[in-house]
Amino acid sequence: MPFLTRLADVARRTGHPVTEVPGWRERGHGPQPEVQGIVCHHTAGPAGGGDYPSLAVVRDGRPGLDGPLSHFGLGRSGHIYVIAAGRCWHNAPSTSDFHTNSRSLGIEAENDGSQPWPAEQLDAYRKLCAELCREFGLPASRVKAHREVNTSKPDPHSIDMDDFRAAVAALIDGSPAPGGGGAGPSWTEDIVKQLPLIRRGDDNVDVKTVRGCLFARGHVPRAAYAEVADGLEGWLNTTVYDDQLVELVREFQRAEGLDADGAVGPQTWPPLLRI
Ligand SMILES: [Zn+2]
Repeated sequence: MPFLTRLADVARRTGHPVTEVPGWRERGHGPQPEVQGIVCHHTAGPAGGGDYPSLAVVRDGRPGLDGPLSHFGLGRSGHIYVIAAGRCWHNAPSTSDFHTNSRSLGIEAENDGSQPWPAEQLDAYRKLCAELCREFGLPASRVKAHREVNTSKPDPHSIDMDDFRAAVAALIDGSPAPGGGGAGPSWTEDIVKQLPLIRRGDDNVDVKTVRGCLFARGHVPRAAYAEVADGLEGWLNTTVYDDQLVELVREFQRAEGLDADGAVGPQTWPPLLRI
């Protein structure tokens, strides 16, 4: 495996802002031999100092350990810094074969080791791990805290890694990242699943939604509400799914090429709502 020059594109799929740190494509202790795991760290940097004060240390190293120390930096705001495309010194010795420096990617999230994690930073952390898992074909179980693969390390502090991995797994096979793309059910399908089935004889506020949508789609002729008290307004506010409405829904269904059963369910809601 060569230098991983797609890492910035992968990071952008999270929807969080990305900075490509100059020179990242050639930076590394040689190329990255393999990617079998992801290791999550905290920087143990200063409590203040802006979004990502540890950038120079992660890029250039510290006394006794040359940089780069990780492929990614993660700022307090959820901003992602792409630091290296080659091998990094972020986990040695490793208790896991999948998480050695030669076989894993490192993410160094800014945190002094005890301060609370901002929600935006955690969101970016989970999404970056999920996108990396997708990119390299890894299950969420390959995402590990440094402390889980190196017994002398405490980082990242206070993150329940089982919860974290469950969230990463949901992102991997669930909804796409902001900006589109990705596999799995769309938000539209999620919405439709929560909509009620409405049939003849029902009497509830959802019936008003059906009436309003039908009217908006041009499927309510003037004659339908000519005899109703308050006219169109009265018609739109009627909560009963009566025979007349069943017929109007059937006409809408025929126009949409659907089974004209006169009930509003999973097939009829999407064209009615235009979602
Ligand atoms: Zn660490």
